[in-house]
Amino acid sequence: MTDGRALAREFLTQQRLLGGDTVVLTDGGTVGPSHQAPRPAAPPATPAAPATPSDGPTVRASTAAAGLPPAGISYDPPGGDLFSADPLQQAASLDAVGSLVAACTKCRLCEGRAHTVPGEGPGDARLVVVGEGPGRVEDQTGRPFVGQAGELLTKILSAIELPRERVFICNVVKCRPPENRLPQFDEIAACVPYLFRQIDLVKPQVILAMGGTAAQTLLNTKQSLGALRNQIHRFRGIPVIVTYHPAALLRNPNWKKPTWDDVRIARRLLV
Ligand code: SF4
Repeated sequence: MTDGRALAREFLTQQRLLGGDTVVLTDGGTVGPSHQAPRPAAPPATPAAPATPSDGPTVRASTAAAGLPPAGISYDPPGGDLFSADPLQQAASLDAVGSLVAACTKCRLCEGRAHTVPGEGPGDARLVVVGEGPGRVEDQTGRPFVGQAGELLTKILSAIELPRERVFICNVVKCRPPENRLPQFDEIAACVPYLFRQIDLVKPQVILAMGGTAAQTLLNTKQSLGALRNQIHRFRGIPVIVTYHPAALLRNPNWKKPTWDDVRIARRLLV
């Protein structure tokens, strides 16, 4: 098999993992979507540090030359005070944050929860995935991104060669909103310090914000998900890539291709 053909196979395998149809290659291999002719994937580029608006035209030009999206919003909320008596700022591990979440009654979402869902994954994860809030299955199990949407997330991560176990996965709010409604502003405001502390502890290389609520919270903006995609934002200096929530992909398969584009950008930023 030629190099180009090997690359085509890799590309189509990734497409299939994201839900594409099956195609049979002339050598008998079965890998990807049948409605598309195999085409080689772009060779992996050397990871380049993303630009920020303050980086100036030279860095922005080099980012563009590297084939990466332009710099977007940079949000740097005040951090915790090391000498603060706030138990959250004193929490030195993800487990310690999880214990605080388990006892939390700071907003009305505590009233209907079966379990809190603080998040899961290694404390030294290179990628942090942030969703919106727990759904029914998450509330029942205490684990984030389980059920159909979770299975799709696992496939998406596999497609960029990141086993789910190596990613820290969490949500903006840690208790299930009733009837899976969007978390309300005051609920997000009450809960977001837990997310910010988790990110501070993990210190990931990249954050993948899945869905509008996660993106708007991490970037402190009201811009739509569509407007925020295809840029490299920053949260406390960490690159943030915005994409669709897996649950939205289940409702609208047309968003799988743009999601694949987004996660490939996130993958390129991982060193
Ligand atoms: S959603 Fe967050 S702030 Fe509200 S009760 Fe649960 S853990 Fe506390």
